[in-house]
Amino acid sequence: MQYNPSDIETKWQAFWDAERSFEPSDDLTKPKKYVLSMFPYPSGRIHMGHVRNYTIGDAFARYYRQQGLNVLHPIGWDSFGMPAENAAIKHGVHPKKWTYENIDYMRKELATLGLSFSKEREFATSDPLYTKFEQGFIIDLFEKGLLYRKKAFLNWCPHDLTVLANEQVVDGCCWRCDTPIVKKEMHQYYLRITDYADELIDDLEQLEKGWPKQVLSMQENWIGRSSGLEFTLHLEEHSKKRLRDAFEGFEVYTTRPDTIYGVSYTALAPEHELVTYMIDNGLLSTETAAEINAMKNSSSIDRQKEKHGVALGINVVHPLTGKPVPVWVANFVLMDYGSGAVMAVPAHDERDYDFATKYDLPIIPVIAHPEAGVVEGKAMTEPGMLFNSGAFSEMMSDAAKEAIIAHFENEGIGKRVTNYRLKDWGISRQRYWGAPIPLIHCPTCGIVPEKKENLPVELPDDVEITGEGNPLEHHPTWKQCSCPKCGGAAERETDTMDTFIQSSWYFLRYTAGRATWEKEAFDKEELAYWMNVDHYIGGIEHAILHLLYSRFFTKALRDLGYVDVKEPFERLLTQGMVLKDGAKMSKSKGNTVDPDALIEKYGADTARLFILFAAPPTQELEWNDSAVEGAYRFLRRFYDRSEKAAVTDTLPEIDHAALSKEEKAARKKVYEALARANDVFGERYTFNTMIAGVMEAMNALNDQENEAVWTEAYWVLTSLMEPIVPHVCWEISDRLFGRKNLGAQIVKEEVFALDTITLGVSVNGKNRGQIDVAPDASKEAMIEAAKAIIPQWLEGKTVVKEIVVPNKLVNIVVK
Ligand SMILES: [Zn+2]
Ligand SMILES: [Zn+2]
Repeated sequence: MQYNPSDIETKWQAFWDAERSFEPSDDLTKPKKYVLSMFPYPSGRIHMGHVRNYTIGDAFARYYRQQGLNVLHPIGWDSFGMPAENAAIKHGVHPKKWTYENIDYMRKELATLGLSFSKEREFATSDPLYTKFEQGFIIDLFEKGLLYRKKAFLNWCPHDLTVLANEQVVDGCCWRCDTPIVKKEMHQYYLRITDYADELIDDLEQLEKGWPKQVLSMQENWIGRSSGLEFTLHLEEHSKKRLRDAFEGFEVYTTRPDTIYGVSYTALAPEHELVTYMIDNGLLSTETAAEINAMKNSSSIDRQKEKHGVALGINVVHPLTGKPVPVWVANFVLMDYGSGAVMAVPAHDERDYDFATKYDLPIIPVIAHPEAGVVEGKAMTEPGMLFNSGAFSEMMSDAAKEAIIAHFENEGIGKRVTNYRLKDWGISRQRYWGAPIPLIHCPTCGIVPEKKENLPVELPDDVEITGEGNPLEHHPTWKQCSCPKCGGAAERETDTMDTFIQSSWYFLRYTAGRATWEKEAFDKEELAYWMNVDHYIGGIEHAILHLLYSRFFTKALRDLGYVDVKEPFERLLTQGMVLKDGAKMSKSKGNTVDPDALIEKYGADTARLFILFAAPPTQELEWNDSAVEGAYRFLRRFYDRSEKAAVTDTLPEIDHAALSKEEKAARKKVYEALARANDVFGERYTFNTMIAGVMEAMNALNDQENEAVWTEAYWVLTSLMEPIVPHVCWEISDRLFGRKNLGAQIVKEEVFALDTITLGVSVNGKNRGQIDVAPDASKEAMIEAAKAIIPQWLEGKTVVKEIVVPNKLVNIVVK
């Protein structure tokens, strides 16, 4: 018998296909598990990160199937998005063709891993049938006021020529191409995710049991709820005149009202309307105007790095002291924080301090550090005791915040405001390969949604993709239409949706069988049965983007009456990265391992075993060729040794007490490995410890020759290992047991019973050897056994006393 993975794997993959082995049952009375690995973008080929993600999910799915549960384990394709268009620009291939050919190729690649996906629920998010219902949601959201259009300063990627959401800007750069983003003023559609900010924070509590702490705190920080004071800084009379009475003043917001007596200047974003007014009306010198324009055009990163500013030559009045405060423009103030204007307190804020030092502005300390007192030479950002703060002096920061907010509210000059770091989700993309936003611009009626019976609004196939501008905008006829309301000539919106919309509800779509897909987005009964996702598996890089959007979208669909759940994912497993030579595998670093080549050489089971054995799934996994080789050798041995087991269709009965020490030890190791499984799948996800247990069991089995023990071991171990290395287990199980063992296994506690205990034997208190006895042996039997090993010490002596210390020793006193 020769282990030939490619024969075995091809055989069982064909069998599973023919038998529809992994389709969920329509019987909605059975207990269920919904196991989902984040679906892939069809980039062209699978990589090791995919292998890890899908192997983990597959292990869960197969385990729960063996436990007799109805398992939904679907896969699909997150298939809209920029790379398809970039490929079109580079190679002249149509994005649709590129995408669907990649899907076909990658589907075959994934199939060679033996993943137990439902084939009948597979879809791509660029399928018109998916777009149809998504556009329906968008219309509902628009009509409910949760989708709106406004002009704003947006994150613009100069490389991809599109707008990005805040979540898609990582350290000031485009999340996809790493180009520093710039701010550009444009019209754009927004989803009102901020309406859900409190709920998104408050509901994190119910995820504490199933989600990694790190992800929860990342979301909490991203939403960034803070409470503070908002008030108007009024312009001085002569400044107001200079601005031709166009402005009274401007709004600022602070989370540190306790530092308000330390305000020594105020700073506006270069995009602030007051600044624009001054430039437009020639109220600033040409040089100053040019400097401000340069700030606007630099990237957000540069704007945070080197602080830069200009004085506008106007003042506002301090609301409490009445003193004049100069107004500056500063590059680090962004329009999307608060109102694009800040009160600056250099003594107690580092950024304000750096700026004040650079431009020689006054630094006025008003808070004393609880231990160090008044700090000079740097910003003291901690809370402490107020001084030089009028009536609020000698109060502590926390109390002073409350008192100062109350004072502003009583005087009617300001109010308490809860602010969020989270901004509304900008969903417009000026690109072709995305779902069209189903809205129409009518010169008479304004923005009008397309009629639902006309959905989907499909993309035109005949487009020219040059990388310049929006192909839908430039298409000769596509956008011309008639208004659904008045029938007059109108134009379609040419923006397409952010692809994160598609991934915000795909997990809901899977709950519906194919029969539903034409008629509805999903079926309420099926949805109620399958949701929530019990195990969701994916990379930590989705902690804010996809996982926050999906939570929001689920809540919004709930408010539209589509779903009843408020949180979609019960348990989340964030898998670690796959590294090689200490770095994340990437094409640009040239340190990738091609999964196809690996499967070709060793088989899918080796790839799967290595991936799950090399590290716990939540940790980084360092590639190791010799460990791959080791995984292969183990499987070969596992396959070869199966010859020692007998053919049977029931678990053999074994009289444990009658076994030799080695036979007992082997059984014990087998059931130890099994005992770990529940803990691994239900709680800790440490597949590696379970696999290590199986390896130990194999070693122990090799020390004995009892056929019944081997048979029982293979009955248990092929069942236990099936979620990890399914092909070889189905092959062995089929041959030996007619696959009757592929189900839940019961741990036999008898094998853990203590076999013997070891007692020391001493003569007159001196250690002379040891004996093994049954734990329930009589005192007489123990003494007998002890005497039997020390005849030389008893010869010619008289025994005067025999003492048994339970579980410890037998002492014989002689004369
Ligand atoms: Zn980019
Ligand atoms: Zn109209």
